[in-house]
Amino acid sequence: MTRLTGEEVAHLHEQYVLQPWAKQGAPAIPVERAEGIYFWDYDGNRYADMSSQMVCSNLGHQNKVVVEAIKRQADELCYIAPSFAVEPRGRLAKLLVDIAGADHFQRVFFTLGGSDSNENAIEIARFYTGRPKILSCYRSYHGSTLGSAFASGDWRRFAYETGGAAPSFVHFLNPSVYEDGFDRTEEDEARCTRQYLRQLEEQIRYEGPETIAAVLMESIVGANGVLIPPKGYMEGVAKLCHDNGILLICDEVMAGFARSGKMFTWQNFDLVPDLITFAKGVTGATVPLGGVIASKEISAFFEEHPLPCGLTYSGHPLACAAGVAATQYYLDNDICGHVKQLEGVLKPALEEFAQRHACVGEARCIGLFAALTLVVDKNTRELMAPYHTANGRMPTIFAELKRRGFYTFGRESNLNVCPPLIITEDELREQLAVLDDVLTWADRKFCN
Ligand code: PLP
Repeated sequence: MTRLTGEEVAHLHEQYVLQPWAKQGAPAIPVERAEGIYFWDYDGNRYADMSSQMVCSNLGHQNKVVVEAIKRQADELCYIAPSFAVEPRGRLAKLLVDIAGADHFQRVFFTLGGSDSNENAIEIARFYTGRPKILSCYRSYHGSTLGSAFASGDWRRFAYETGGAAPSFVHFLNPSVYEDGFDRTEEDEARCTRQYLRQLEEQIRYEGPETIAAVLMESIVGANGVLIPPKGYMEGVAKLCHDNGILLICDEVMAGFARSGKMFTWQNFDLVPDLITFAKGVTGATVPLGGVIASKEISAFFEEHPLPCGLTYSGHPLACAAGVAATQYYLDNDICGHVKQLEGVLKPALEEFAQRHACVGEARCIGLFAALTLVVDKNTRELMAPYHTANGRMPTIFAELKRRGFYTFGRESNLNVCPPLIITEDELREQLAVLDDVLTWADRKFCN
């Protein structure tokens, strides 16, 4: 087969592919190759991937160890149904249980991505507790299958709700410290935590705790702007769950796999969830894979009751082989240590941008999981793009970054900085300089 030109690739995409979350027919960059933190278009233009695509290419592009593992598995056995025992499936399940903590977790249900990991976690929680309701945050995203979309809080759920709001999905407001008018001082964080926990406690009381199967939360909200919770908030939510016999499901789809400097982001908090959902980083996005890690109690329950979940490709051998290789890569190369070290570069740099740039309201960073909230006015905290309003400012800023070879994404007024976790200090500093320049340009263009 002859290779297509960049123009032909772009044309096919524009004409035939339904592009997610977008109007159709818009031009897309035709990508010829990718390596490490970079990808290239057919004209040889290089882009630094400062979002790890959709915060999933955690190990950079074309990690050789993972690619080799996929090739080996493809030669050996591409597919065997989920009911058979196969080496990479069992190996990966054990590896993930060990990372989560074998004293508390026992079994893994494999899915194909993040949405269906949440979908199945919801089903497991309902079946296990015999309760219907799922509580989740407005400031969240959990996926785009029906259940995971109904559980999502941001406006991406609206299209799903045109068929009628789903029964037994209840949202509560989770804190966004800066947007809610709080500062990152000890007193303000404590006040913020108290306020939001009191509201949640009331909401649980009014919903009826005996009707609530689970609280589903991103361990740190990702796509809605890396919302690092105020101190004590996550522990408070876990306690409310525990006191009311409600399961806690931590969504680690974006936050997991060393992104925050721990293999799972909930490990930064003093809590242990009952179910963990994961995807993206488990294979470094080389092959689609997701899943649900279940506590010992829930795992034991399903020794007595058949699991009411199943997928043809659950534990697909190719995906699990990639999962074993990638997960082992994080551990063998101390990616968490590297991330913590580079947090020491990224966090102060972004905080300094927030001091110096008129358009940066707040910088948030844990590990290599970071976002800036952009504003037009720092004094009033007026956002660059208020919630669910279309204005051209943020797209213009992203386009300017892209023009300068810095690729990232963000929602509303947030600009995410989530590079591949294998980025070097020099590469990071080089890209921070580009971001700095574009912020200076945005200060002049948009700020009062
Ligand atoms: N959960 C979170 C926290 C996510 O960020 C995403 C996707 O970005 C999902 C779930 C859905 O995952 P997927 O797109 O793999 O279905």
